[in-house]
Amino acid sequence: MKLVRFIYENKVCQGVLSHDKINIIEGDMFGTYHVGDKTVSLDEARLLAPCQPSKIVCIGLNYYDHQLEMNEFADDFPKIFIKPSTAVIAHGENIIRPQGVDRVDFEAEMAIVIGKTAKNIKKGTAKDYILGYTCMNDVTARNIQKQDGQWTRAKSFDTFAPMGPVISTDVDPYSTKVELLLNGKVMQNSTTEKLIWNVDFLVEEISKIMTLLPGDVISTGTPSGCGAMEIGDKVEVVIENIGTLTNYFTGG
Ligand code: MG
Repeated sequence: MKLVRFIYENKVCQGVLSHDKINIIEGDMFGTYHVGDKTVSLDEARLLAPCQPSKIVCIGLNYYDHQLEMNEFADDFPKIFIKPSTAVIAHGENIIRPQGVDRVDFEAEMAIVIGKTAKNIKKGTAKDYILGYTCMNDVTARNIQKQDGQWTRAKSFDTFAPMGPVISTDVDPYSTKVELLLNGKVMQNSTTEKLIWNVDFLVEEISKIMTLLPGDVISTGTPSGCGAMEIGDKVEVVIENIGTLTNYFTGG
């Protein structure tokens, strides 16, 4: 099932997407809901980010090949940082280069969308708290990241958290292809089989630190091949059984 949020006739709606048709949901995908008979064509809907996270928890250096290309190595626990909710943009929207920032990189990542409140969850029960998975681009001002030595400023600019287009409930988080296309050319091509810290571990450990709320997102990290965008570029995160998240890089 592919869940979407969208605007139709000036109202924010939720629905289930199949092919180019959306069945409108009555209720809330994060609570109780019923999939109604009323349908909207995808052409008539403007897709929004599929959830409204209170926080986006990101994992750094979760693929060994990315550690090698960054020449930065994780210890025995993942590097965890947070992107603000104000950085979120939807499928089709523009990533805006901040004034004075000379290098902005893409990072294709599979992201977990939390379905119900999770705190201190027990080992092996993460899936009970996960609604589904979405595509995420962990956009990064790379030079600022290196200059600052910590990552908040580099990762938090407005528009630096594209996500969507759907939340898919039909993803095997242990074996899913993750790709990034820049102007149609494959730049990143990997699989979540290579995640050092898997989805179960991440949800369990992060829920020991902070309460995860419905709609919160955990972005699992990027494989090797990340690189810079130029103004006018089209950037696509393509994840098996989720879809393609397309955004455009523009000047500020
Ligand atoms: Mg990342």
